[in-house]
Amino acid sequence: MTTFAPTLDHRLLERLRGAVRGGIVEPGDPDYDEARKVYNAMHDKRPALVVRAVDAGDVVATVDFARDQGLALAVRGGGHSVPGYGTCDGGVVLDLGRMRGIRVDPDARRAWVEGGCTWADVNHATYAFGTATTGGIVSTTGVGGLTTGGGMGHLARRCGLVCDNLLSVDLVTADGSFLTCTDEQHADLMWAVRGGGGNFGVVTSFSYRLHPVADVLGGPTFYPLDADVLRRYRELIAEGDEKLGALLVVGLGPPVPFLPERWHGRPLCGVVACWTGAQDGDDRIRDRLAALGPVVGRHLERMPYPLLNTLFDDLVPAGLFHYWKGAFTQGLPDGAIDAFVEYGATTPSIQSVTVVFPVDGACHRVGQRDTAFSYRDADFSIALSPTLTSRAECEDRKEWVRGFHRALLPHAMEGGYVNFMDGDDQDRVRANYRDNHARLTALKRRYDPGNLFRLNHNITP
Ligand code: FAD
Repeated sequence: MTTFAPTLDHRLLERLRGAVRGGIVEPGDPDYDEARKVYNAMHDKRPALVVRAVDAGDVVATVDFARDQGLALAVRGGGHSVPGYGTCDGGVVLDLGRMRGIRVDPDARRAWVEGGCTWADVNHATYAFGTATTGGIVSTTGVGGLTTGGGMGHLARRCGLVCDNLLSVDLVTADGSFLTCTDEQHADLMWAVRGGGGNFGVVTSFSYRLHPVADVLGGPTFYPLDADVLRRYRELIAEGDEKLGALLVVGLGPPVPFLPERWHGRPLCGVVACWTGAQDGDDRIRDRLAALGPVVGRHLERMPYPLLNTLFDDLVPAGLFHYWKGAFTQGLPDGAIDAFVEYGATTPSIQSVTVVFPVDGACHRVGQRDTAFSYRDADFSIALSPTLTSRAECEDRKEWVRGFHRALLPHAMEGGYVNFMDGDDQDRVRANYRDNHARLTALKRRYDPGNLFRLNHNITP
């Protein structure tokens, strides 16, 4: 039994049942426990209803119901939100996980992607035509939250952020309107969903620009955790080769066959490459990466781009306990490198990988005011997390990540990437949007004055 059970208006509930073609799951239903689960096991919430939408009509009906009932509304795409914004106590969960259709137009290099897709869905559909767009580095993450927050991944240096490749959205706003937004039509909302998170409505369909990317030279090269390796990585990125996606990872050696056993569980750093240049450049990239330091293991091969995006999947399955912090840096200052070496050495688990995304190149060619995502002058976006197998351990190691974050702050920019923030970072929302915050607040007042869409990094009206 839940202590959060609201009194539902039966007339409105019957109207919802009549309007929705997907399923509605309620407390007591056999699949309720499954339906209320989200990726981060820290969040064990009991919604009053989970609506499993199958189309835009279901989304409109659910938005109308939650608003008219005065209930909290949690919009769930892939469910990966670390603060657990895809669920709530006593409110309505709008689960888009059955809206997974994709249409690709290879000639126009464009894909239309329903709001509940994951990056695995998108990568699979677009690879068939020798194309791809920037997406997340774990294939099970949803396009919904990742795109609306800005979105970074292996292709960001060459193709820009995910939101830079977003050409249009179909959006259901708080008053239940269904709007197709482009740079010409409802352009203010189009601007806002390129980084403003889920604050402005539910995206039922995204359309993305595609790029000619099929097979890549991809995968990790590992080195002992050492400041000299990190400084050489910094030089590698400063060379500015945009066709080289090169995430830095810091943590403990994973038990994988290409890493000698003596390195399993020991502090390491690594570069996860995604070279999209010509294949005859592969050897040069291998040599360049080998020159960063003593290589202790590597799995750097030609592979389909979608496969590269599954390499982390097994390391971080759903059901683990996460707590995250995020920061942006300009360059990689020596003080930040020192923090990586110090905190990397005490990483709490193999799953707690610190990931540093380069966000230079094409990401820098978009103006700070051109999209709601504002940090166009950042060179790196850093995600920090203790990821553990129990709540108690995760609670216990929160101080590790807070200390790590505090050590980075003197070398970091004011705000961070909203999608790497946790629930206790709401006081950083203004800093995360910087000069765009005022315009976002004005749009929020216009399109969602009652703050129906508040389970997110909230721009309050
Ligand atoms: P949800 O929990 O479903 O939603 C998160 C937020 O987005 C909620 O506020 C929700 O209301 C809103 N939302 C979701 N779908 C929609 C929609 N269709 N319309 C409107 N609003 C919507 N980020 C990166 O940029 N790059 C990465 O490579 C990356 N890797 C990650 C790997 C893992 C394992 C995890 C846990 C996170 C990663 N992230 C990454 C962060 C990720 O961007 C956020 O967690 C994001 O919120 C996930 O989106 P989702 O749809 O899965 O989440």
